[in-house]
Amino acid sequence: MKPEEILKKQWGYDSFKPLQKEAIEAALAGRDSLVVLPTGGGKSLCYQLPAAMGGKGLVLVVSPLIALMDDQVAAAREAGLMADAVHSNLQADKRDDTYWRLSEGVTELLYVSPERLLAGDLLKYISGRVILAAVDEAHCVSHWGHEFRPEYRRLTEVLDQFPKAARMALTATATPEVQEDICAQLGLRSPLRLIGHPDRPNLVYRALPRRDQLAQVLEIARRYAGSGGIVYAQTRKDVERLAEGLKKEGISCAPYHAGLNAGDRRRAQDDFVNERLDVIVATIAFGMGIDRSNVRYVAHANTPRSVEHYQQESGRAGRDGLPAECLLLFAASDLALHRYLAKKDVDLPPERERALERQLREIGRYAVSPVCRHRLLTEHFGAPYPPAETVLKECVFEEAFCKEGDGDIYQEPDRAQGCGACDVCLGETKSLPAEEALLTAKKALSAAWRAEGRYGTGYVVNLLLGRVNDRMTANGHDQLKVFGLLKDSGEAAVRSWIDQLIVQDFLEVTEEGEYPLLRITEAGRGLCNGRGAVRLGMPVPARVKGRKKAKALKGKAACGLGVDQELFERLRSLRRALADKAGIPPYVIFHDSVLIEMSASKPETLDDLRGIKGIGEKKLEKYGRLFLDAISGRLKQPQV
Ligand code: ADP
Ligand code: MG
Repeated sequence: MKPEEILKKQWGYDSFKPLQKEAIEAALAGRDSLVVLPTGGGKSLCYQLPAAMGGKGLVLVVSPLIALMDDQVAAAREAGLMADAVHSNLQADKRDDTYWRLSEGVTELLYVSPERLLAGDLLKYISGRVILAAVDEAHCVSHWGHEFRPEYRRLTEVLDQFPKAARMALTATATPEVQEDICAQLGLRSPLRLIGHPDRPNLVYRALPRRDQLAQVLEIARRYAGSGGIVYAQTRKDVERLAEGLKKEGISCAPYHAGLNAGDRRRAQDDFVNERLDVIVATIAFGMGIDRSNVRYVAHANTPRSVEHYQQESGRAGRDGLPAECLLLFAASDLALHRYLAKKDVDLPPERERALERQLREIGRYAVSPVCRHRLLTEHFGAPYPPAETVLKECVFEEAFCKEGDGDIYQEPDRAQGCGACDVCLGETKSLPAEEALLTAKKALSAAWRAEGRYGTGYVVNLLLGRVNDRMTANGHDQLKVFGLLKDSGEAAVRSWIDQLIVQDFLEVTEEGEYPLLRITEAGRGLCNGRGAVRLGMPVPARVKGRKKAKALKGKAACGLGVDQELFERLRSLRRALADKAGIPPYVIFHDSVLIEMSASKPETLDDLRGIKGIGEKKLEKYGRLFLDAISGRLKQPQV
């Protein structure tokens, strides 16, 4: 059978996603490859399909995510593959079967953790049979990346034992620098480089100044009530406080951080993946093992450590290709905390310190520049924006967004206006005209200058807003010309501008003394004297842009024309019941997109079902009748 036929038969898909075919053909021809595709780009299929070619041999997959391996195995088996996993958490009762299948040579796809592979005892079972060795999350091999794993550095020792097997390194986030590192460290032999476009057109990005953390997080959580969401916060305290606040408002959620015991953590993760829980509030300890495909939003209540982290974490939204939202709440103080934490217990060598500073500057720029967020992210990974036509065609907005303007509906993205899918291009954040930006910056900078670096941000904000207090009067600062210079702009805007000036290096926060102090930099003085350029943005008040938009991007994945919402929910509970019974995550059975299509087209026969994207032969046989009965109403309650 040809790859296309297998794709249709086993996965129920009509066509390949960009670069999948190329990756598969390289593997089948025995050629090494580097595959960089964004999250949700369909990387797994690149190594799973060669395993499904039948009788060719074994595909080995190295993956660092033990928690995820079992789900991946379950998904591959649902597609009809003979898949197994070997890792330290493998249950004793499964181990014997797994090794028996390996020694009999019936395993087609084997997931293995780097530690288990390096231990060496597996080699005798597999060495003659490996046709493809795939290394997933390959960025872990690089110091320059964001999740360095020392064991990854040693993988070539083992890979060299399979000289005939093709190697395939896969990752979602890799700057050109990291790509080079991957090829070198994994010993790829003149690899075919398949670099996809990093843009995620189904995601709406918003980066806003943080004013009231809980209120801003609540706003997005309410909009998506009943759907999956992840909230990231910087510290355990923030996590606890936010989770508490969300719970009070009736949102089904749990905290997740390294301070909780392993049992609680595992339960929270399981409940989230199995859709018994809508929202996880977590430090970045959470997420590596999360493949739930219908996460409708990822909200960062604090600024992440780098753009790479942001891409990776926010990328957990909308893996299913349906619309999803990524919100980042920015404050310059988060960057200072990252800096402090990174240096707290170690003396960073100068090059690591420079890398840290660069990363903080870049994520700060992302958060405050009044420039299209899709563009900023894409360009960070070395790709042009907008992407070529072929990539845009992949965009699912047209199908998935409601099109009729009945007031409760999100504005349809308009690609003529930039990406049409970020706060800047949607007109929610506007850029100040150049002259106004310069004038505003000069006002803020001159206040900091007059304060001579002896006061904190709060004091300078009060100075600019013309707020009198005892300290201000005692210092005689209420008599300064800069006093009240920005009093018409409001505190939120002034604070945000100061953050923006910090990110652009016109101001800095020093921490030599007991308190952090705000100080003008050399570049800041230069700007006041007419040297250099500045860019400032500000959120457009909700009043002006209208409430409509803000509440509009509803959490309902089934926001499409002709979708029977009640039926969708019924199919969702049937899916959950089946998943619970089988001990696998619901998305492994069918993605939301499949349920949405069922709820819209209401298929009556198995043949109708066969036409739906994502239903292969095996799933049709296993679940087809049940879902048809649920759709026709013959199956009232999900009884499985
Ligand atoms: P990645 O590892 O790149 O983040 P996955 O391998 O998890 O992505 O795939 C993301 C989703 O895309 C999965 O649900 C998968 O079933 C789906 N998918 C993969 N290939 C195709 C295809 N050719 N057509 C439609 N959907 C696909
Ligand atoms: Mg993957």
